[in-house]
Amino acid sequence: MIKYDFHIHSALSPCGDEDMTPNNIVNMAYIAGLNAIAITDHNTIGNVKSAMAIGSQLGITVLAGMEIETCEEIHILTLYPSLESAEKAYNVVYNSLPDIKNRPDIFGRQLYLDENDEIIGEEEKLLISPTSLSVEQVFELVKSVGGVAIPAHVDRHSYSILTNLGFISEELDAKRIEISYTVDSIEEYKKSRPDLEKYKVLRNSDAHYLQDIGKNENYLDVTIEQLFGEV
Ligand SMILES: [Zn+2]
Ligand SMILES: [Zn+2]
Repeated sequence: MIKYDFHIHSALSPCGDEDMTPNNIVNMAYIAGLNAIAITDHNTIGNVKSAMAIGSQLGITVLAGMEIETCEEIHILTLYPSLESAEKAYNVVYNSLPDIKNRPDIFGRQLYLDENDEIIGEEEKLLISPTSLSVEQVFELVKSVGGVAIPAHVDRHSYSILTNLGFISEELDAKRIEISYTVDSIEEYKKSRPDLEKYKVLRNSDAHYLQDIGKNENYLDVTIEQLFGEV
């Protein structure tokens, strides 16, 4: 069984704590006994490669991921089978972000870190803006590169597909949804939303601080290969 946490922000997300360095994240995952994690910064994959290098030393699978914000201000958690696949999606996503400069004093710094946690750059474009991509376009893009798109934290009041649109369109052909760890019982929650019954669920920490990584215990109901092959 794979103990996972597939929604973790690094210090590249302006809202991610600066202690969220590749080494700190992967080592924290190790301490928490996780087998697989994903680095899912807002609209970027810039620190994934460094975390992958550390993961392979510690025997932890590090997936490339990205939390994409759609033009409807909905967060979609996206996971990729390889860095190459993620890069293809990232190129489209980054170019779909408006040209707004980050204000580090307000939003926080956006740090690129190498596998020794050295700062190798700072992203100047504000990453926490909505892209110009619609939910449909994000699903299409992610599918086209072999990744999976998962409506993020659907139970929350902000940046959630259910809050902003009210429902999940059949046309997206979504297989999974993410439900926050703050929801105690998936069963009870699904009872209140019978339209969600058919979706498989991922539960993650959405960690922005080290202590949040893996704080809720979740085991994958399939293999990682199967996760990317779900139809
Ligand atoms: Zn989010
Ligand atoms: Zn997040």
